[in-house]
Amino acid sequence: MPNVENWHLKRDVAYPYEGHRPARQWAIVFDLNKCIACQTCTLACKTTWTSGKGQEYMFWNNVETKPWGGFPLAWDLRILEKLGRQDWAANGEYLGKTLIEAAPPTERVLHFAPKDEDWMYPNIGEDDCGGGTLDSGAHLDSLPHDKWFFYLPRTCAHCTYPACLAACPRKAIYKRPEDGIVLIDQSRCKGYGECVRACPYKKSMYNPWTRTSEKCIGCYPAVEQGIQPQCVVNCIGKIRVMGFISPPAVARADNPVDFLVHEKQLALPYYPQLGLEPNIYYIPPIHADPQYLEQMFGPRVHEAVARYKELHKDPEAAGLLCLIGGTERIIHRFTVKAGIAVGYDEKDEEILRVPVTETPFERAAFDEKLGAVRNNNP
Ligand code: SF4
Ligand code: SF4
Ligand code: SF4
Repeated sequence: MPNVENWHLKRDVAYPYEGHRPARQWAIVFDLNKCIACQTCTLACKTTWTSGKGQEYMFWNNVETKPWGGFPLAWDLRILEKLGRQDWAANGEYLGKTLIEAAPPTERVLHFAPKDEDWMYPNIGEDDCGGGTLDSGAHLDSLPHDKWFFYLPRTCAHCTYPACLAACPRKAIYKRPEDGIVLIDQSRCKGYGECVRACPYKKSMYNPWTRTSEKCIGCYPAVEQGIQPQCVVNCIGKIRVMGFISPPAVARADNPVDFLVHEKQLALPYYPQLGLEPNIYYIPPIHADPQYLEQMFGPRVHEAVARYKELHKDPEAAGLLCLIGGTERIIHRFTVKAGIAVGYDEKDEEILRVPVTETPFERAAFDEKLGAVRNNNP
């Protein structure tokens, strides 16, 4: 089996096909400190792409409350338990096995298959900080308390080394060379469900009506027009930015995604130890249990949390965060100068200009022209 380079793990990993990085790679960064679990992203995707027959329980984008929520049920717990020990060296190299390296001889990917009922409770555990075991108000008994949760929005990660693609016996799944989006060719798919079993993130889903598997398409029709995906542009919390991520050696500090992932190392892939080089990246929550965060985001998470807490001293990073959610268009380059953050499109034309700090404006208490009395809220 070929070896391919996985920079998340700082080593080569086994993969059934030769590694060919796309010309550019679709990616989303999420700031988990800002998500409010309003599920607007979930519904934006659902009403756009999965309102048809057989798609009733299909949520290509979902938001789950961690650690108690999961769609499908306990998807991460179950694959992590199967994988066994997941150790990291001090230099950041992953010492354990990936899903492909740990696969039994007759399989291509170490996997588990959710049952039908596992897909029936997309909101299970929402807003739960005690696994359903806390009586109402019990968390107030001994403040300060150690109860915590955070919201985790998820789409397909359009992995660099997709498990779904590796497992498909029909070669119906392909990764687009122009943008790295992973798609299922519906005319080739026979609904064997190997991708549903193999994807550890459980982002390939079976449609019993069409008898094929379906998954997030990265909103490629929008991306081809320079527009960010539906789940990104409709995000109420403005926690998401979609763009293109470069491998570390050619990262550009003025590319928003490269800046957050490579330059500042604020955003990290989730469950990188599974070995697929997933291309959704998370700025971790600063209030959650450090050990849990390390399991989810790897050992670099502690530095990322510390850096996030110091962001108020970093005008460039603070400026970029002000641009997130301010435009439908994909921001290819950004600048922050003299307190103004500016975003540019692929043609390097300005598409967005935002002050990093709003100038306070105090209105006269009595408007002479309109004869109106107004209050100034601080
Ligand atoms: S997240 Fe799952 S469905 Fe998406 S590309 Fe990766 S392995 Fe495939
Ligand atoms: S990128 Fe598009 S298809 Fe994928 S989850 Fe978001 S809205 Fe749905
Ligand atoms: S729309 Fe944004 S803030 Fe709301 S749940 Fe989705 S990711 Fe979170």
